[in-house]
Amino acid sequence: MSTRRSAALRRGAELGAGVLALAWAAGLFTGARPDAVALGQPAPPADRRSGELRGLDEVVPVVSYDLEARLDPEAHTVEGSGSIRWTNTSERPVRELWVHLYMNAFAHERTVFRRDKIGGFRGSAAADGGHIEVKRFFVRQLGRDLWTAEAHTPGDPDDATDIRVELGQEVAPGASLDVELAFATKLPSVVLRAGYAGSFHMVSQWFPKVAKLEPDGTFAHFPYQRLSEFYADFADYRVVIDVPQGFVVGATGAAQAVAASEGRARHTFEQRGVHDFAFAAWDRFQERTRESGGVELRCLFPPGLEAAADAELEAAARGLAVYGEAFGAYPYRTLTIVHPPDSAAEAGGMEYPTLITTGGPFWLAHAPVLVLEHLTLHELAHQWFYGLVATNENAFPFLDEGLTTYATGEALRRAYGHSVTSLLPLELDAVDRATRPGLAQAAPIATSANGFATGGDYGGLVYARAATVLRTIDRVWDGAALRAVGAYAREHRFGHPGPLALEAAIREAGGDQPAAFFHRAVFERGWVDFEPASLTSEPRDEGGFRVNVTVRRRGDLEVPVALEVLDEGGGRTRIPWNGRGTFAKLTAKTGARAVAVVVDPDNLVLVDEDRSNDALRTSPASLAPRALTLGALLGGLALTVAGP
Ligand SMILES: [Zn+2]
Repeated sequence: MSTRRSAALRRGAELGAGVLALAWAAGLFTGARPDAVALGQPAPPADRRSGELRGLDEVVPVVSYDLEARLDPEAHTVEGSGSIRWTNTSERPVRELWVHLYMNAFAHERTVFRRDKIGGFRGSAAADGGHIEVKRFFVRQLGRDLWTAEAHTPGDPDDATDIRVELGQEVAPGASLDVELAFATKLPSVVLRAGYAGSFHMVSQWFPKVAKLEPDGTFAHFPYQRLSEFYADFADYRVVIDVPQGFVVGATGAAQAVAASEGRARHTFEQRGVHDFAFAAWDRFQERTRESGGVELRCLFPPGLEAAADAELEAAARGLAVYGEAFGAYPYRTLTIVHPPDSAAEAGGMEYPTLITTGGPFWLAHAPVLVLEHLTLHELAHQWFYGLVATNENAFPFLDEGLTTYATGEALRRAYGHSVTSLLPLELDAVDRATRPGLAQAAPIATSANGFATGGDYGGLVYARAATVLRTIDRVWDGAALRAVGAYAREHRFGHPGPLALEAAIREAGGDQPAAFFHRAVFERGWVDFEPASLTSEPRDEGGFRVNVTVRRRGDLEVPVALEVLDEGGGRTRIPWNGRGTFAKLTAKTGARAVAVVVDPDNLVLVDEDRSNDALRTSPASLAPRALTLGALLGGLALTVAGP
């Protein structure tokens, strides 16, 4: 697969399922990965009610990283040193640490990542590989270096991204370890989120990172897999980035002093309460800044992309306001937007705490489509759904990508009045729902990142269908999903909830019915298809007509729905149905003979599997084709063409 096509597919994942739907149609996603599926985890105790936001100063760091990173932009290496303080915040003694060396995913052809052919989905092979070598891992309290040269992922000698470090003795709850660290990272040519292109460097997954400690004293850890993102504890970071003078640096956190000497510059960044740290460095970066609601926005971009930078800054400013109101205010002082050059497109469309990457050619800023805005708002929504609400992206990718896709549509609509382009009567809701038939049955939405058979199943279920389920709940149950996601985001800020916490929030916001709908849709491959099966009219003695409708409900998702009868006199008569049972025989009084019946005339049940069977007419041509279907198709095409 060519780099260009791969970049388009990656962008497609972040741009919505319309693109994905067309990619499926074109048969671009193939590959089989029949892995087991983990179906849930208990909701953590609800220790915060909505409205009270936990502050940054209340976050107790599990890890504190104090690192130095010296970038050699010609050798494309980062020489790292510093210290890590790790505290056993669990309830049990701990005898081991798990450390991720994600850069080793790009070391050679046999790593878990590179073996994992997933139909070209995001991430082509790097022309020049990457790796990380730990040179010192000295634990002061134990008085020795714990690193073993042959460290590799358990049971997988070819992979070295998930490393167990035996402590040799117990570390009691509440006790800390101080690790003196030295490491050498070689960056790959840009591949899946990280690497270099010329003198541009996107430096992510670049340091030894302690895996997520769970309350029971175990670690949530996993090798770097192609479709999986990350999961980590909240930490404090202080990182000194040492680059040649003339390089502009954008990084997680707030910039502190810059010290220059002997042709080099040392940029210090600090941030509390984040669970990752990434930076970008380039000697050609242009820079624009603005302030929005107390947040310093900074956009770094290639020469000639001033208009794109302005569009992205504007989208971020609007997004901070919309998301802040819906999900709780953004608590950090800075947000950095990195727009990589076209030669580093694989670094674009990615989220890190307080730093997002966008991408795309200069002309996008002048086209009448909201592609840059969409991408910016998508990555910005991740500051909540992955950033502040730090779910396990490996176990439940829909909790970050699905909620982000859902939030992005909401933000575009509120901030711009439309969500794709002003040229078409098309909303993202329609694009995201236009998935391939049968997708709902392919796997539960709540499947782990490596549990999907294909990249198409992953993209369609995790991004598009998850959002469509939530939007259906909003439409049918009067905004219950938006209230629920808002409460969930506030209550679990700086927490690590699972899907049951979201289900509980939906129950609280809308009651048992939408909660049961969510549960079936997310965990049990629930689906629904309404279809009117018969329509007859008979004259009534007292005048007018009695209309008899039989409507079927296929699938196991119970959702109330309305039917609308159209009669010869132009009258429209609504009949509500509670949606229970596999069919219903309904009646209505009308002024004239019925000519057609339509299920869900207000287009509320977005998850309806097949819109083409939603209308039944007594004679041909009594209903116009539904604009939605055509609109969705056109929108998908527009986005495909616009994608870089
Ligand atoms: Zn995303």
